[in-house]
Amino acid sequence: MKIGVLALQGAFREHIVMFKRCGALATEIRLPEELKDMDGLAIPGGESSAILRLMDLYGLRDALLSYAASGKPILGTCAGAILLSRSQNYLNLIDVRTVRNAYGRQIDSREAVIELSFSPDEPFRAVFIRAPVIDEAGKDVHVMASYRDKPVLARQNNILVATFHPELTGDERIHSYFLDMIS
Ligand code: GLN
Repeated sequence: MKIGVLALQGAFREHIVMFKRCGALATEIRLPEELKDMDGLAIPGGESSAILRLMDLYGLRDALLSYAASGKPILGTCAGAILLSRSQNYLNLIDVRTVRNAYGRQIDSREAVIELSFSPDEPFRAVFIRAPVIDEAGKDVHVMASYRDKPVLARQNNILVATFHPELTGDERIHSYFLDMIS
């Protein structure tokens, strides 16, 4: 299985390490034509405004939209989730509204224990770093974990978003779940 990790800015190296640990081939993606061989794609956390500008510069928007339309899965974490949400009005691939940096300053970065709907027996340590809040999710969105009554992991068809950083804690469950979405 070949996974592309969008490597414009942010925590892409950590995703590559995680996918490799899960037994997939993972490579950095920067150009539209590099997408076509990938069975799945991850858009990492970072600064969503910077990633968005670079996506435009590299001509990636249309390529990402047709990639998603082909049914291949996309994982977006933190800034990646913001970019996939309807709030940026850019990719608009999952019907959730994200509000940037909305946990406020006091807890702008923190660790919390959450429960994954597909793996409830063992708690998952979620690391939030200036995370967005998902304050609205459409009826076709399947919420798979919440924190303080707000969704933090959600899926709509082939799109999976997490507002935290599953690539930073060494727990492979979210990356393996994503790989299962391919097969
Ligand atoms: N605060 C960032 C943004 O608004 C997201 C932070 C992250 O990806 N860790 O884009």
